[in-house]
Amino acid sequence: MGKVTGFLEIDRHDRKYKPAADRIRNYKEFVIPLGDTETKNQAARCMDCGIPFCHTGCPVNNQIPDWNDLVYSGNWEQASANLHSTNNFPEFTGRICPAPCEASCTLNITDESVTIKTIECAIVDKAWQNGWIKPMVSTEKTGKNIAIIGSGPAGLAAAQQLARQGHSVDVYEKNSKAGGLLRYGIPDFKMEKHHIDRRVEQMQAEGVNFHFEKNIGVDLSMADIEKNYDAIILSGGSEKPRDLPIEGRDFSGIHFAMDFLPLQNKVISYEISDNEKSITANGKHVVVIGGGDTGSDCIGTSFRQGALSVTQLEIMPEPPEKENKQMTWPYWPLKMRTSSSQAEGAMRDFSVLTESFEGSDGILTGLNCIRVDDNLKKIDNSAFKIKADLVLLAMGFVHPIHEGLLKQIGVTLNDRGNVQANEDDYMTNINKIFVAGDMRRGQSLVVWAIREGRQVAHSVDKYLMGQTNLPR
Ligand SMILES: Cc1cc2nc3c(=O)[nH]c(=O)nc-3n(C[C@H](O)[C@H](O)[C@H](O)COP(=O)(O)OP(=O)(O)OC[C@H]3O[C@@H](n4cnc5c(N)ncnc54)[C@H](O)[C@@H]3O)c2cc1C
Ligand code: SF4
Repeated sequence: MGKVTGFLEIDRHDRKYKPAADRIRNYKEFVIPLGDTETKNQAARCMDCGIPFCHTGCPVNNQIPDWNDLVYSGNWEQASANLHSTNNFPEFTGRICPAPCEASCTLNITDESVTIKTIECAIVDKAWQNGWIKPMVSTEKTGKNIAIIGSGPAGLAAAQQLARQGHSVDVYEKNSKAGGLLRYGIPDFKMEKHHIDRRVEQMQAEGVNFHFEKNIGVDLSMADIEKNYDAIILSGGSEKPRDLPIEGRDFSGIHFAMDFLPLQNKVISYEISDNEKSITANGKHVVVIGGGDTGSDCIGTSFRQGALSVTQLEIMPEPPEKENKQMTWPYWPLKMRTSSSQAEGAMRDFSVLTESFEGSDGILTGLNCIRVDDNLKKIDNSAFKIKADLVLLAMGFVHPIHEGLLKQIGVTLNDRGNVQANEDDYMTNINKIFVAGDMRRGQSLVVWAIREGRQVAHSVDKYLMGQTNLPR
């Protein structure tokens, strides 16, 4: 424990954002790092609890008190080594993780939690700046071939772990770049994509072979993959979006969030030109249906594209301003949260059901809505209209895409339509085929995908070699 009285003397300070009026002029990250001295002060607030609940609050079980102590004593390089022992990509989570660890911080019971995510990000950013992060190339090769299908955080974490064990690893990705939703879903203003490129270079140096624009089940059959590999990991994500099949759904101007968001990311990375962007919020009244992360990303992107207004509708009731910590700690509480994108000027409305879309000549002009009570029952005489030129459906994802790869191999699905496998060995019903990430657990978080990637690597290594020293 760095400073015994730190938590008594120092208040929580976290990273600030650049002003909304400035940041919406571009797509760059806008979070301002704390600086070394303030980061060390914040690390000093960690109480090094006897039972550190943050360990289990964090899905990759980051050893948070240990690296807080190392940062406080100025030993940043060792802090980085410790952090990387549990998390392959802390610069991703240090930017976009919702930080369930902070909800479970013991200080959060009576005070404000340690700024864990900010400290994590500072450690890894410093490690990159100082050249401490290097490829870890295995000196002994096992002669085993592994195919990983999908290069989201689950596939990337599994690939890195397995290549470092000396296996030959091929990652197949249907898009032209690696990263999955990190690359094409999450906007650049939340995480710039050079962070992924740098990791891909590191992994290539570690021996991982990337094969882009290879849609397995379409461009290459699973039979070919099965023939050539000793083990296969499916990490294709959960890509089937939840639809809203109501009257007027066919009007032009109504799109899934994931038809809209990737276009902007591709423009920024020069995969397409701005003119090729088939959907834009520029000059439009935008309505986002769905109150989660994806909805927020649609809001921030719409403002940057020049939307006239953005309204976000949520069917669930407005959550309480503050949680009752006695009831919720150490778990993730339901409470009112305002994302950086929502704070850029979005109008938010809760307990709203969209009954139908309105249009003229096949083109969307608005929504017919009605208010619902806490049991989602319609409230009499509460119908209202909203003008809209663009509706973005951000109501989550139901399960992985079944057509193609999954149907070809006839893998067993669970009752939610995800690929069936337990968390002990991550093996599907088909010999030598494993599954990890959103494809197994359903729509989730980047940090859970990294955890599953690491854990499936442990299982695959054990399956191939009879034993493993990879951590779970
Ligand atoms: C818009 C949006 C914003 C989000 N924001 C956050 C956030 O801020 N923080 C957070 O923690 N989580 C966020 N999430 C959730 C998070 O991104 C996912 O939980 C995570 O990326 C899942 O990782 P994965 O590796 O399992 O799958 P994915 O990231 O979905 O990657 C799957 C990859 O597999 C590829 N693939 C699929 N099928 C095939 C095939 N047949 N052949 C070849 N390749 C294939 C896909 O192209 C994709 O690249 C967000 C999700 C969305 C949609
Ligand atoms: S990965 Fe997420 S949960 Fe874990 S320490 Fe970092 S911010 Fe917290």
